[in-house]
Parts: sequence; structure tokens; C-alpha cells
Amino acid sequence: MKPLNSTLLSLVTLKCPRCHKGKMFTHANMYVWKTSHLMPEACECCGQPMEPETGFYYGAMYLSYGLYTMLFVPMFLLTVLFDLPYLEFFISFVVLIFAISPYIFRLSRACYLYLFVRYDKEAAKCKAA
Ligand SMILES: [Zn+2]
Repeated sequence: MKPLNSTLLSLVTLKCPRCHKGKMFTHANMYVWKTSHLMPEACECCGQPMEPETGFYYGAMYLSYGLYTMLFVPMFLLTVLFDLPYLEFFISFVVLIFAISPYIFRLSRACYLYLFVRYDKEAAKCKAA
């Protein structure tokens, strides 16, 4: 069993859930729209398939929805509590969404894969990528 903070760090840095070393996405720059979603077939370090079955990441859409809601609700509550203008809230939220949507996309996929694949101490002995 790996410490929770290490798993969380691997999750937010989009590392393989099995070895916590391999990269989950092919291209490091997530703001290149054409290549932002590309994932390797398998982890370059431990061989964990990045898409275990066809259509695996449909469920990640729901996680993405939840992550956006986790952003929206606190921002909206702060707007209401401090009596801030709703138009500024809306504009700032839209700008924030556009800025972080590639990361949320990747994070939701990573979260979904982390739900099904556990850390494997033996797999972590592979060479660091
Ligand atoms: Zn791996």
C-alpha cells in the first residue's frame, strides 16, 4: 500500500496508477488541442493498458462534471456571500473554465483509471520514465 499523499501526487501529476512513474498522456503540453487527449496504448514503464477496454473513459465525463461542479459551487457561494456582481462571476467562471478545461479533461480520465487500477509495488520497480 502506497501512502495516500503519494497516490494523490501521482494523480494530480497524471502518472500511471499502477507504477506512479509512467506518463498517462503522450504530449506534455495540454493546450495543444489536437494532441491534448492522446494517451499511449500502455504505460511506458510498467505496461499497464491506458484504455483497458473500448469506451472505458465514458465514465470520466461524469467525473469531469463533478470536478466542474466542485469549482462552480464555491465560486458561486462566495459571489452570493460577498454580494459580488453576477456578471463578473459569470465572466470569471467562463475564463477559468477555458483556462483549465484541458487539465480537468486529463484529470477526470486519470481519476477514472485510478478507480479501477491499484498501485502495484512490483510494477513500481520498473525504470522511471
Ligand atoms: Zn505504469
